[in-house]
Amino acid sequence: MRFFVETYGCTMNRGESAELSSWLRGMGHQQVDGEQEADVALVNTCLVIASTERKVRRRLEGLSAQGKGLIIVGCMASVDRDRLSREFPEAVVCGTKDYRELPPMVSRAFGSTPMGTEGPVEDSPLVLPIAQGCNGACTYCITKLARGDLVSYPLPRLVNRVRESVAQGSREVLVTSQDTAAYGAGEEHRLPELLKRICDLPGDFRVRVGMMNPDSLRSIVEGVGEAYRHPKLYRFLHLPVQSGSDRIVRAMGRGYTAEEYMRMVGTLRGAVPELTVSTDVITGFPGETEEDHQATVRLLEELRPNIVNVTRFSPRPGTVAERMGSQVPGWISKERSRELTALRFRISSEINTSKMGREYAVLIDERGKGSSVMARTDDYLPVVIKGELPLWKRVKVRITAAASTHLYGEPLR
Ligand code: SF4
Repeated sequence: MRFFVETYGCTMNRGESAELSSWLRGMGHQQVDGEQEADVALVNTCLVIASTERKVRRRLEGLSAQGKGLIIVGCMASVDRDRLSREFPEAVVCGTKDYRELPPMVSRAFGSTPMGTEGPVEDSPLVLPIAQGCNGACTYCITKLARGDLVSYPLPRLVNRVRESVAQGSREVLVTSQDTAAYGAGEEHRLPELLKRICDLPGDFRVRVGMMNPDSLRSIVEGVGEAYRHPKLYRFLHLPVQSGSDRIVRAMGRGYTAEEYMRMVGTLRGAVPELTVSTDVITGFPGETEEDHQATVRLLEELRPNIVNVTRFSPRPGTVAERMGSQVPGWISKERSRELTALRFRISSEINTSKMGREYAVLIDERGKGSSVMARTDDYLPVVIKGELPLWKRVKVRITAAASTHLYGEPLR
């Protein structure tokens, strides 16, 4: 069969799509770029918020109406397998914990062709899932229902995966899971050691660490600070705070206070002053008062993060928060979301403007719009460079302009 891949959701889904499609190629199936030439669609689903779930369902219906075969994986396949199997009886529906079953399921549904060789996982950048699930119990989170409790992948296998990928030319490694700081909890190896072992590998590459839960970071924050000093590790921290109100954070089933959160970020900024900080906030969580909202505003003003992902609360089926009373009216959460988004762009514009005139060595890691490329500083700041420059090249630039979400740089001759 000829198949194409469509991935929704997080970096983890991206990594698993790369892995699963390499298995299908290994089974002798042909991967194509678009739906026109494809017989089958491998759709890696997400349902973290209601609007994404609706979008994915519409897409599955559209592909099915075109007569495409469906292989449905990802969190929706874990949480809603029966309903999907009812709605798409011909489809292969495989949850995230059953991926090892996918090849035989596909063979039964779409036949098998003479065994090919397991194709190399397209991996520039290499997306490296280091664990599945987490130790959290966040009351709003449907991902927990899909991914379950923490299962950390063996450290030697992960280090080997990076060694192979760098040997094949990878220049960037995206370390990911639902909560990277939970890696190896209760086991021998934790995140700082994994990062050190990866960064100690020979080769010119950079490593980005994905999202952490402050509750998991608490016990390893010093070690993570030490790890961030390694020149191969992007000085980038993604640490969702979700709310500046301790009362709301508790109602979310998370165990830190705003003061403790700021202390942890302070420790990491102490280790690497130029740390780029990304955080997430949820507005309109059940019971959120204007005072709770203002506590979030104050925290962001004090934290001055480079990036804030603002999400309006949407009750997810089967979660504790879905059954909570005092849901916040839509127009209020919309207003609060607008206010936090404006604040976030004001802060990031001020930070980016302060970078004007500075010089950086950057790694070109993405094609940009028109004739431009996107590059990353070692603080993982995005820099747009005009012109056709080759991917994965390292160049020196001077920052010539600043926008609220990125910088503009000119190559130094
Ligand atoms: S840490 Fe919380 S938000 Fe993150 S996946 Fe686990 S339960 Fe969900």
